[in-house]
Amino acid sequence: MKKIVLILIFLSTTINAQTDSKIYDIINNVSANRIKKDIKTLTEFGTRNTFSDTISNTRGIGAARRWIKAQFETISKNCNNCLTTFYQKDFVTKKGNRRVPHDAWVVNVVAIQKGTKYPNRYIIMSGDIDSRASNTMDFTTDAPGANDNASGMAGTIEVARVLSNYKFESSIVYVGLSGEEQGLFGGAGLAKYAKEKQWDIVGVLNNDMIGNIKGVDGVIDNRSFRIFSEPVPANETERQRRARRFYGGEVDGISRQLARYIYKTTKTYMPEMNPMMIYRLDRFGRGGHHRPFNDLGFAGIRIMEAHENYTQQHQDIRTENGIKYGDTFEHVNFEYAKKLTAVNAITMASLALSPPSPKNVGIGGIVEASVKLQWDKVEGAKGYKIYWRDTTSPTWDHSRYVGNVNRFLLEGIVIDNFLFGIVAVGKNGHESIVSFPSKIVRKW
Ligand SMILES: [Zn+2]
Repeated sequence: MKKIVLILIFLSTTINAQTDSKIYDIINNVSANRIKKDIKTLTEFGTRNTFSDTISNTRGIGAARRWIKAQFETISKNCNNCLTTFYQKDFVTKKGNRRVPHDAWVVNVVAIQKGTKYPNRYIIMSGDIDSRASNTMDFTTDAPGANDNASGMAGTIEVARVLSNYKFESSIVYVGLSGEEQGLFGGAGLAKYAKEKQWDIVGVLNNDMIGNIKGVDGVIDNRSFRIFSEPVPANETERQRRARRFYGGEVDGISRQLARYIYKTTKTYMPEMNPMMIYRLDRFGRGGHHRPFNDLGFAGIRIMEAHENYTQQHQDIRTENGIKYGDTFEHVNFEYAKKLTAVNAITMASLALSPPSPKNVGIGGIVEASVKLQWDKVEGAKGYKIYWRDTTSPTWDHSRYVGNVNRFLLEGIVIDNFLFGIVAVGKNGHESIVSFPSKIVRKW
């Protein structure tokens, strides 16, 4: 009996060594009820079309954004003013924009929780404020946008509520973006703002439709969700493109590494969930607010339900041939929205607790039986871990912790047959996003 107890203690400590109990607390603190309440409130603004009324206190996007800002301000009051909240806005004109009915300000609501150690490293979670009717130019007809995208907006507010109870080394940004439906204006505006302010963006987690579990095809699934990511940065140089042909990296851009990080964090802490890494920027021919960040070279992905229902998005509320159209409150599954919100919360917490990714990663091993890896050490890391995987595998399946060194010879592994990356591991055990090698090591 004693022996069994000892073995159990040993087992539990080895398991605990890889996980952080704080992350489980964060999952437990996410509330389906609060998300439900916030989605309800957002739908009650009638329409949140970007070009709708801005004066009324009960209807239109003006009332909606003021309400969102007030939520962030209340959260901030409860955490000793830990959030800085402001509007970030850009003017869009009818001229030259096919889907802009009249000139207007596109206004985002931003709340920043400053990091204690790396204030200029930013992890961003976004949802959208705006909604649309069947005709995107129609800014007066009711467009509750319960799932698209009050769900992502409510999730973002909820993550702010939960994570504001903790301190993080990196900064976290909670943002409601506008102008999504007419041309991704809000995302473009904030991406430009971040570039001008020289934010070091670790990643953008864009949430767009995280509450529907019943697909138009009849499939019901409250476990699966999708992570969309582009393969390589849209703004890569010709030189980088040519290097990829010889050294690999076609599916190893920074956004894809962020997607793998979300996948791994979910599998570690929420094993009941089924994250699907979708190897494309977004759905076929469709767009989302992570894209303008990608356009400027930032890592960004889209988190989304696995099964969409097209009768419940971008539709006027009506009944036609017995089918009820419209993106209304009763179609949202709040327990599922809670789970996807928790996926965001734990990913952002892990990232904000981890040291930065190693920079300047070099790899070598042409015509050799071993792989050489070297990198620049990062401040705050206790050590480094090498990850590798089969060239056809989507996930980093093998790893080796190599201690506090800046180079390592991985013996007996042939470079040609795998892909390699390296992470920094913090004193608390949290790992950075994988850095894929960016240069070739010739001399060792
Ligand atoms: Zn939409």
